[in-house]
Amino acid sequence: MLFHTLLLLIWTTRFASGFSSTKSAPPTTAASSDTTDTTTSNDHHNKHGKTIVIVGGGVGGLAVAARLASKFPSHNIQMVEKNDRIGGRCGSFTTTSTEGTFRHERGPSLLLLPQVYRDVFTYCSHGKTAEDYGLVMEQCIPAYQVVFDDGDCIDLGFPKTTTTATTTTSQEAESRSRDKMNAYEEHGAEKWDAYLKTTSAYLDCGLPNFIEEKLDLPSFPAFLIESLQDFAKVCTK
Ligand SMILES: Cc1cc2nc3c(=O)[nH]c(=O)nc-3n(C[C@H](O)[C@H](O)[C@H](O)COP(=O)(O)OP(=O)(O)OC[C@H]3O[C@@H](n4cnc5c(N)ncnc54)[C@H](O)[C@@H]3O)c2cc1C
Repeated sequence: MLFHTLLLLIWTTRFASGFSSTKSAPPTTAASSDTTDTTTSNDHHNKHGKTIVIVGGGVGGLAVAARLASKFPSHNIQMVEKNDRIGGRCGSFTTTSTEGTFRHERGPSLLLLPQVYRDVFTYCSHGKTAEDYGLVMEQCIPAYQVVFDDGDCIDLGFPKTTTTATTTTSQEAESRSRDKMNAYEEHGAEKWDAYLKTTSAYLDCGLPNFIEEKLDLPSFPAFLIESLQDFAKVCTK
């Protein structure tokens, strides 16, 4: 849902001087019947810079288009999208059967790294925030729930520190979940903690060094220790 809101906001506000989109196929429908086609003849005539074409209207293409339109107001930014909707993997659809109506996520169900999304708004609007555009991101506690065949479920994804009024409720829910993990598997909660520690080390090192490409040497020791431990676990099996 939040992904949707962001995509719609990026799309409808079209930041700065804007960018245009069109479906790439079939080409004959791009001009008049395509609801995502926001190109007008004035859009083209008012631009004296280069034409930049972005292929794919997923969240990545949308963010790039918004940033380019903001940075190069005289350029004509065009986006081509093969589907009849933008958003790429972000989105959902519903199916109805005799057992009820079910919503399926096409891809992401968790919004990770909210700051990356906030940065797009700040960059493109020269200082305004995502909240200024009505996009308020709130942490879900717990982040998600695993439901088993028999209806039993485990809540997962509690913040490391809780300082709000929900502290007690949140701690109680987490404690119940940990008890269930232990009931399902010996030392289940401890194993969960170890798994989170490993994946946190991977993220803490992977994000700056490999995704943001900002060298962060202090994050390497924990990453290496966890990697070696993982490797050792595989070797001893
Ligand atoms: C099952 C699943 C679960 C995920 N869960 C999460 C999650 O919980 N949290 C999270 O942050 N991320 C999650 N992700 C990752 C996230 O979905 C992707 O990182 C993100 O959607 C990628 O965005 P994108 O714009 O790079 O690519 P896409 O979303 O794939 O967008 C690409 C777009 O390009 C279009 N396109 C492709 N080829 C052409 C062409 N030749 N001409 C025109 N258009 C074209 C496609 O139609 C599509 O609209 C998940 C992914 C999957 C598959």
